[in-house]
Amino acid sequence: MTQENMITKNNDGTLNVPDHPIIPFIEGDGIGPDIWNATRIVIDQAVRTSFDGKKSIQWLELAVGEKGFRTTGEYLSDQSLKAIEDHVVSIKGPLTTPIGKGFRSLNVTIRQKLDLYACVRPVRYIEPVPSPMKHPEKINMVIFRENTEDLYAGIEWQSGTDEAEQVISFLTNQMHVKVPEHAGIGIKPISEKNTKRLVASAIAYAVDNHLPSVTLMHKGNIMKFTEGAFSRWGYEVAREKFGNQTITEAELYDQYQGKAPHGKIVIKDRIADMLFQQVLLRPDEFSVIATPNLNGDYISDALAAQVGGLGMAPGANIGDTCACFEATHGTAPKYAGLDKVNPSSLILSGAMMLEYMGWKDAAERIRKALQETIRSGIVTYDLARQIEGATEVACSAFANAIAERL
Ligand code: NAP
Repeated sequence: MTQENMITKNNDGTLNVPDHPIIPFIEGDGIGPDIWNATRIVIDQAVRTSFDGKKSIQWLELAVGEKGFRTTGEYLSDQSLKAIEDHVVSIKGPLTTPIGKGFRSLNVTIRQKLDLYACVRPVRYIEPVPSPMKHPEKINMVIFRENTEDLYAGIEWQSGTDEAEQVISFLTNQMHVKVPEHAGIGIKPISEKNTKRLVASAIAYAVDNHLPSVTLMHKGNIMKFTEGAFSRWGYEVAREKFGNQTITEAELYDQYQGKAPHGKIVIKDRIADMLFQQVLLRPDEFSVIATPNLNGDYISDALAAQVGGLGMAPGANIGDTCACFEATHGTAPKYAGLDKVNPSSLILSGAMMLEYMGWKDAAERIRKALQETIRSGIVTYDLARQIEGATEVACSAFANAIAERL
């Protein structure tokens, strides 16, 4: 593997992708090896078919998680982190969070150390996956969840500790606010810089993919200086960076009689609780959603459930220097090594990765072949128990069935 086979990034964010790029992968713990092997079969075949064998991926394994600990004594080495950053694009299976080893979570560590600030989750219905919705086909959204701040920053103190009491004393005596006695305390930082880069990446995605709107989801009616500011900064960055490509929802009605001019993206905002209702009642009114960390965590999983659950949901963590694509579920340890589980989440994350690299045809082939496979009744155990008359196959057989349809 040589230097010229590394993907590089230009200052404007575009990628230079060689014909045989080196892409690091982490197979993951638990069911990770099973779903990774299945995913690799599908990605390699899609690339081969799409480019008549003229392009291919050179996979570079990174020993992270339990495999990393077994082989190097480290769950996540600096060398692995550097490889993820240097190669710009990577893909990973789920990782167990080691208990009592000084990590909150390996996944969180990767996101924080590499400043992968946008957690991107497309949510699209794949027929005929069982869904609790009457019209799941109306759901086609992409969530951009801020990944680095908000209540998830980990700034919190347990009730009754010296630290919590000091903060309460400061708030009571210096800031003259009332805090319940011996409360546990958590801090919710939301900054202009981190909001603007997240919302800008959501709008850029909408521009690149010709999508109709970007919705800023927030709870600014209650938390004015954090979530309210998120919404305000979101509108600001839309004006500052995408003034020619966007209009606000207010302008849509004031100036354009409710019909967006061709090529303009509508920037709107919704209070979080109301948006939870609206994505159930009128899902086709929403396309890209940009939101702070905690709201994003909730809405991503709720929307995934609307189209059939986490087993089918792809995801990526994207920053300015690199992007790591990943399954959205965990390591499901009870199924480890049984060649049983559904690899769709990681396969669809692989499709997202190919799209990110500009290999859109290969990505689209994967989505279509996966849908055709499920439509023909070939599914893993989780879907077999919900689809009457379906044939249950192993994880690897499901991947082979997809590969045959590419
Ligand atoms: P989980 O691993 O997601 O598994 C929970 C249940 O979800 C499984 O028992 C299974 O349900 C179903 N499931 C998950 N993946 C599936 C798949 N590919 N196909 C079919 N069904 C699937 O959640 P967990 O048990 O709470 O977490 C286990 C470990 O994973 C923990 O160490 C956690 O820290 C880690 N984790 C890692 C990530 C990540 O790496 N991004 C994310 C979340 C959790 P049934 O039993 O009903 O069949």
